[in-house]
Amino acid sequence: MYWPQNHTPMQPGDIEAGIEITEDFEPFAQRDDVFTRAFWDETVRSPRTDAFFASYRMEATPRRGDGFQQRDFALRNAAWLISDIVSERGAAEGRREGFQAPIQPDTPMAPEQAQIDDPAAMSAEIKRIARFFGADLCGITRIDPRWQYASRVDTRDMSEAPNDLPPGITHVIVLGHQMDQGLVATYPSALAGAATGREYSHEAAIVMQLAAYIRNLGYQAVASMNDTGLVIPYALKAGLGEYARNQLVITPQFGPRLRFSKIYTALPLAPDRPKPLGVARFCAICTKCADACPVKALPYGPPSTERPNRSAIKGVRKWTSDAEECFGFWAKLASDCAICMRVCPFNRDFSRWYHRAWLRLALSPARKLALWLDRRRGGRIKPAAWWAGR
Ligand code: SF4
Ligand code: SF4
Repeated sequence: MYWPQNHTPMQPGDIEAGIEITEDFEPFAQRDDVFTRAFWDETVRSPRTDAFFASYRMEATPRRGDGFQQRDFALRNAAWLISDIVSERGAAEGRREGFQAPIQPDTPMAPEQAQIDDPAAMSAEIKRIARFFGADLCGITRIDPRWQYASRVDTRDMSEAPNDLPPGITHVIVLGHQMDQGLVATYPSALAGAATGREYSHEAAIVMQLAAYIRNLGYQAVASMNDTGLVIPYALKAGLGEYARNQLVITPQFGPRLRFSKIYTALPLAPDRPKPLGVARFCAICTKCADACPVKALPYGPPSTERPNRSAIKGVRKWTSDAEECFGFWAKLASDCAICMRVCPFNRDFSRWYHRAWLRLALSPARKLALWLDRRRGGRIKPAAWWAGR
């Protein structure tokens, strides 16, 4: 993708969304994400990373005690099943749908377009339908070439391929999917990975169904998970939450315990506005995630433009993890890690009044008191206790 040099591409709403980009900004090429590099870059690929991917097929399954036994991997891999079916169906054409290519539509677009006179009413309707299909959060923003991958990946040979969308796309509908709190409490474990897999399977179904609804109205809609563009800046611009030191979007409804998916569409919609909460101010006095990271992959100090390696986007001032160190730990576990999500003080059940009261405190000038009140929380629940239903 062409990007003008010496051009500071800040856009309206960036500051409210906590986004700061600098003159050397470049859109990110998906071939550089650490998971894709594990297939072509010998500095990342190892027998351990190969075993990590094999464990998702119940091959090379380690049995190293509580949380890493056969039933833990069995549940995790079963939770991924629907996502796997979707991502495998275009493999022969080099399209790993939902990850390295958008999800192909399963329905034709209706030849006649529904008349839409009020984009704000249409946005409200889309949010209602998103909830109906099972999304926990929904926000809307405009498509932004800065967050679109410069290229996608042809998974036959891991080469760069054009990252094209159909013409006429104007908006991105961003959906949030809550991860199971009880399973997240057991990170690190293969069992906890079932919380990740379940939401990937949920989101695959939800984006496909919501995109089908929009196509049935006669408007273009492309269902997307991790493919095609970076979902985090879209979630920030859509007002769903605020970016944090642990590289996650913290939401007032579920804290950091969410996954995000998206739909690119030409449907006339009214975008949401970013909603600064005060999370960055809290992160400025808290380092629980960085302290808890076993491989010290998370940064201390304020947001910066430093790039630990090529798996970080260039020219964005933010908290950036060392993705090579982080993924190295995942490979060692043969499962995903989210210790930095588990220990975060915002990882709470906000349906309870006392957690909502804590949230108000954490987002106020009394945030130091909120951090102190959190000092004993965030411990790991034993996977065996989860299996025992305790
Ligand atoms: S996922 Fe695990 S290894 Fe990666 S940054 Fe978080 S705590 Fe560290
Ligand atoms: S653990 Fe603390 S520093 Fe890390 S993301 Fe959560 S609030 Fe921010």
